[in-house]
Amino acid sequence: MSAADLAREPSRARDVARRLARWFARHARDLPFRRTQDPYAIWVSEIMLQQTRVETVLGYFERFLARFPTVEALAAASEDDVLAAWSGLGYYRRARLLHRGAKAVVERFGGVLPADPERLREISGIGPYTAGAVASIAYDLPVPAVDGNVARVVARLDAISDPAEQQAGHPGIARRAEAVLAAGRPRVLTQALMELGALVCTPKAPSCDLCPVASACRAGARDLQAAIPAPRKKVAQPEARFVALVLSWRNAVVLTRRPATGLLAGLWCPPLVPTRAVRRPRSPRTAMERLGFDGTIEPLPGPWVRHVFTHRIWHVAPFRGTLRTRPGGEDVTLWRPGSPLPGGLPRIARKVLEAAGISAN
Ligand code: SF4
Repeated sequence: MSAADLAREPSRARDVARRLARWFARHARDLPFRRTQDPYAIWVSEIMLQQTRVETVLGYFERFLARFPTVEALAAASEDDVLAAWSGLGYYRRARLLHRGAKAVVERFGGVLPADPERLREISGIGPYTAGAVASIAYDLPVPAVDGNVARVVARLDAISDPAEQQAGHPGIARRAEAVLAAGRPRVLTQALMELGALVCTPKAPSCDLCPVASACRAGARDLQAAIPAPRKKVAQPEARFVALVLSWRNAVVLTRRPATGLLAGLWCPPLVPTRAVRRPRSPRTAMERLGFDGTIEPLPGPWVRHVFTHRIWHVAPFRGTLRTRPGGEDVTLWRPGSPLPGGLPRIARKVLEAAGISAN
């Protein structure tokens, strides 16, 4: 521990806690998951918010809870129903783990999420961050929930210069955050640290002149805000190309289920066929034949549909066609636009359908 350390300076931690709580009461955004202390609802919101913008989560959160209002309701649902409710939110593994976790909560904990972070971490999909969020926000316990926002605020408050010690998973960051939570209401302070990181102590150009804890901030005092945390090296993202077939049979669209492992596992998409072509292929007849479809096919106007995943980029050339014979097979379904989805439909599938003038919302 360095000399500048919230965990070793209780009066400074108390000062930070007091200022944060006052600021949060005045400036916190009114978000639906802030209006509840239901551990299940807080768990759902925290899983949805992982790697996803708050604005994106808002509609999903309320719809998901309307559909699965209790942990029992989620546990009893089919995986396709859960994935359908998650459709478009991305990172579907989260939804599967949440579903599996709900079953465990019903079977092992009588349908009530435990308050103890060690017990919480025994549940699928709950790691140290989510355990901290549920324990502190729902149960008001001083268990830190350190995401990127909180780690950045804490690292700046204590001017931590070592890049390894600035990471969200570093015990020094958790210890400092815990000291702040323990100096006031953990329920409020966890959310206040997150909110400060999201609104004021942003990665680039933090608004130090608006910051409620500027007087306690060592990075601010030494003009080190831009250097903390240290910038990460950019890693090249692999790119892949596909032909997408938006095929109609009568008034329905053909969707195929992705393989059970790999990216978008088990989700429904218009058929996608890898291609090496750098220019848009003129005709995907071979793709049609490879998949055993019989019908007409033509390119859709417009550029490649581009989709950025966390670690890769896909470029998809969409085509539209009409089948002469009804398609069959276990992993093929016919979906009528406007009717309920057969399961999870990822964002890339929606973009391809939109290129063909079909809405899946
Ligand atoms: S003073 Fe600036 S760097 Fe320090 S916590 Fe506030 S916004 Fe972040």
